[in-house]
Amino acid sequence: MTIEREKLRWNGWGWIEAPDLLGARAELVWGWMAKVLGCAALPHTPPVSLEKIALPETRLHGPALCALEAVLPAARIRTDAYERAFHARGKSYADLVALRAGMLTPCPDAVVYPECTEEVLGLLRWAAQHGAAVVPYGGGSSVVGGVNTPETACPVLCVDMTRMCDLLDLDETTRIARVQAGVYGPALESALQAQGYTLGHYPQSFEFSTLGGWIAARGAGQQSNRYGKPEKWLVGAEVATPHGLWRTEHFPASAAGPQLTQLVVGSEGTLGIITEAAVRLHRTPERRDYTGYLFPDFAAGVSAARALVQDGVPTAMIRLSDSDETRFYAALQHGDGEVGEATPYCAMLLGLEGAAEEVAQAGARARAIIDAQGGMALGEGPGETWYKGRFMMPYLRDPMLDRGLGVDTLETATGWGNIAPLHAAVRGAIARAIAAHPGEPGCGGVVLAHISHCYPDGASLYFTFVFRRDAAEPLGQWRHIKAAASEAIVAHGGTISHHHGVGLDHRPWLAREKGPVGAGVLRAIKAQVDPGGIMNPGKLIP
Ligand SMILES: Cc1cc2nc3c(=O)[nH]c(=O)nc-3n(C[C@H](O)[C@H](O)[C@H](O)COP(=O)(O)OP(=O)(O)OC[C@H]3O[C@@H](n4cnc5c(N)ncnc54)[C@H](O)[C@@H]3O)c2cc1C
Repeated sequence: MTIEREKLRWNGWGWIEAPDLLGARAELVWGWMAKVLGCAALPHTPPVSLEKIALPETRLHGPALCALEAVLPAARIRTDAYERAFHARGKSYADLVALRAGMLTPCPDAVVYPECTEEVLGLLRWAAQHGAAVVPYGGGSSVVGGVNTPETACPVLCVDMTRMCDLLDLDETTRIARVQAGVYGPALESALQAQGYTLGHYPQSFEFSTLGGWIAARGAGQQSNRYGKPEKWLVGAEVATPHGLWRTEHFPASAAGPQLTQLVVGSEGTLGIITEAAVRLHRTPERRDYTGYLFPDFAAGVSAARALVQDGVPTAMIRLSDSDETRFYAALQHGDGEVGEATPYCAMLLGLEGAAEEVAQAGARARAIIDAQGGMALGEGPGETWYKGRFMMPYLRDPMLDRGLGVDTLETATGWGNIAPLHAAVRGAIARAIAAHPGEPGCGGVVLAHISHCYPDGASLYFTFVFRRDAAEPLGQWRHIKAAASEAIVAHGGTISHHHGVGLDHRPWLAREKGPVGAGVLRAIKAQVDPGGIMNPGKLIP
């Protein structure tokens, strides 16, 4: 089942009828936020409505449009303003700032909705023949510019995959499902769970992102400690490329050279369009246990997280907030609470999932490790609250943008020994960049961080920062902060992205991570499957 576009916000997050998270507390929270940032007050900054925006004329007409109508029925070729606006960009902070300001140039010349692999192949043949660029589009929740319409002289076709959303096969003997790539998270999980299985991939964007987008962006679900990233659960893929249909190998294991399925993971629509995926499943967990702990400081929490993973305690999620994030969220929950004096305490949420006995045993082993690091149990309250609201935080972003605020997130990963130095370097770089471009004289920023996805050799670090948006130059201000953070990440031994991907925003830093030979390999692969360079131009490839 797909989601009708008219029910979703074209310039914000989620349902048009979005839940009002702040309700009667709103003015209290904005007053508190202004105080925290050191601003006099927060102004009202509503977005421009779509009716007031002049979209560029579509460049698709005449023989090219007739030929397109031979590939898809006219009802699935959309050139109306809402569809073109909805598909112009993704959902990053910079995208929303641009959309809210009415910046809809460029936007796709047409949006098409294929329903089968043959139609996707037909669309790529059409694009190659008519010199059009193609942007593959799943849920459009990219936060790195992955679906943004390229600025090109040729027409741009956005291929929305969300009508290819069927569970094709679930093989209980291998525990592998074959699924069309445009399926949204909730529809996928309800089809699998009806048969007692789960993929277990729950990014915060779960409700509005798709299987194809998860694979293409190489993302991570919140419970990735247990279920893994797509590089672990994708066992085979079908990809429509301008060079023809590509089915990758699909064996339990193989020594027949490098595994090509892994080239599809993280390909970000630059090689072709993923039409189907074979994915590894788990039994739906019998029990879930999410518990909060408080550590005397960040170092103790990091030691506990490392020991939990390295000692093989089967966790689903370890999320360790730094001291600023711990205090900030505690204060936010209490509405008018003071952020208060700096304290070193750090909160951890530990998630366990699986068979009841496995969860009980893991809980006992985890508590021993946490005790040894001075951690104190906070009971089930914080874990339950987090679990219930785990997809809700993004709904706070639009109201923040309505009140003159800027808010963005970025993430990286590094080895355990480098967590503390990288945390300090990136935090410092973001804070200094905000201070140098404060949006309003005298205003400061808030920089929060947590460790989330954990591995035996290291973990990811996730940063959230809030600042007063510069009304005159919001995108320049954001670019300044983003560049400072990205430079700090690569200079201090982090990957430019642990799960958001590369897209447009991280591309300038990718070559340094891959090296000249690696960057050349990526370019050569693209040239092989997409000789005309029509697939998602400008994204990923250095
Ligand atoms: C509020 C919010 C929270 C988020 N939380 C997380 C999180 O917890 N974890 C995480 O990993 N990410 C997160 N993200 C980022 C984003 O949701 C992920 O990158 C997600 O995987 C994108 O899926 P999508 O279907 O929306 O893909 P899109 O945004 O539509 O596309 C992403 C990229 O994949 C390509 N693509 C999409 N479908 C296909 C296909 N079928 N074939 C080939 N290429 C395709 C696109 O061209 C683009 O390059 C979050 C984003 C937001 C806005």
